[in-house]
Amino acid sequence: MPLRATLLPLLLPAVVVATLVALLDGPKEVFAAALVALAGSLMSLGVSRGTMQRQLDLLARHTRERAEGGASTAAPGVPERLDEVAGLEGAIDSLHAQLSARNAALTQEARTLTAVLDGMTEGVWVTDAEGTVVRNNDALRPLLASTSSPLTGQRPLALIRNEALHDAVMRACRESASSHLELTLDGHFPRTLSIRVTPLAKDLPGSAAVFHDVTELRRLEKVRKDFVANVSHELRTPITAVRGYAETLQGGALNDPVMAPKMVEIIHRQSERLSELVEDLLELSRLESREVSLKLARVTLADAAARAADTVRPKAEGKGQVVSLHVPPGLLAVGDPRAVEQVLLNLLDNAVKYTPAGGRVDVYGACEQGRCVVRVKDTGVGIEARHQSRIFERFYRVDKGRSRDMGGTGLGLAIVKHLLQAMDGEVKVESEPNEGSTFTIFLPLAASSSAATG
Ligand code: ADP
Repeated sequence: MPLRATLLPLLLPAVVVATLVALLDGPKEVFAAALVALAGSLMSLGVSRGTMQRQLDLLARHTRERAEGGASTAAPGVPERLDEVAGLEGAIDSLHAQLSARNAALTQEARTLTAVLDGMTEGVWVTDAEGTVVRNNDALRPLLASTSSPLTGQRPLALIRNEALHDAVMRACRESASSHLELTLDGHFPRTLSIRVTPLAKDLPGSAAVFHDVTELRRLEKVRKDFVANVSHELRTPITAVRGYAETLQGGALNDPVMAPKMVEIIHRQSERLSELVEDLLELSRLESREVSLKLARVTLADAAARAADTVRPKAEGKGQVVSLHVPPGLLAVGDPRAVEQVLLNLLDNAVKYTPAGGRVDVYGACEQGRCVVRVKDTGVGIEARHQSRIFERFYRVDKGRSRDMGGTGLGLAIVKHLLQAMDGEVKVESEPNEGSTFTIFLPLAASSSAATG
């Protein structure tokens, strides 16, 4: 009920009667009655004002409580509100509802943003206008290998000691300039980071930086570059020899009955080398691109070793070496028969190649801890510890001259490693310089293998 509507009917007659009595000079009793009515009206006006004040106080308290996160329902215990107060309360209610909805939307948006940022593999930081980090995602800390906790509140220079990055952040904050830089961080795990620094927005001072770990990418690029350089180098040697001798023959040596056959022999040997190199390269590239699909079957390792040994035996016998096999006939692996034989052939060929005349090569087979194990052991030149982890890389040779003299392509062990990986196996080496080497291969054991377990 409006206040005005309550008071006017009370006040108006009393005022009118009192005024008329006074103007018409009416009886004193009537005048007194009018005065009493006026006083009553004024009292009732006072009572109504008090009611309104109380309701407003209550509404104010209630509104404050809701603002501070209290109950959002209307305050109980007020039987009837004055219409003005009820109107005001309605307006406050709708304002509160709108603010709550907007607040919920903002909270949802902030949570989505945090989830997206934390889901990224790239590291992200956001700075304020002064270049101080005010926000970062989870991926950033491992990328920076930072021990600072938290990252927020730090200046870029405190997180990465790099002037270029610091300058880029300041340029983004002050001149709204974007930049891209690549940094290599030293330490336990050296890494290369590609960093993009951008200003936030025209009306939002500050900058954002996105850190992308490109260590593996750069490493692969280097491997690829080295590979191309190595292949060119490897191909150039035999090609130069073939061309040189062919030109010499053309230049007249063809009629030399002593030199001509020697030169043709060299050309033949070099062309064989070229084709071996190309074959090995093709095999490796097929393996790496997973083009070859190995056909897994049960492989009798004794047979595979015997076939590989037969291939190298003429060479071994030519050097007065003994090749002996000690592989149990019942030892069956799961693998591609052709690939297993190729692995053993490469290892045996190396053993014969890098073992001086009169040495020996032994092949042992066993089942150990549920896997097939074959060891190719020689009494050759051996490999220093610092080279042992690298000899499985393409074109890595301990002694380039010796490898080439022996007709090696530098790809044999890389092929071994890839073939075994494709068959769920692995290869390891143990070696002592001048004592000999043992290359051990592991392959899954076939269920029907009857070899004794070791
Ligand atoms: P290569 O064609 O040069 O033999 P590999 O990939 O087969 O290439 O071997 C890489 C290098 O590992 C060789 O150049 C050699 O230095 C070393 N190596 C491999 N097998 C043996 C071994 N049995 N004894 C000593 N060194 C070996």
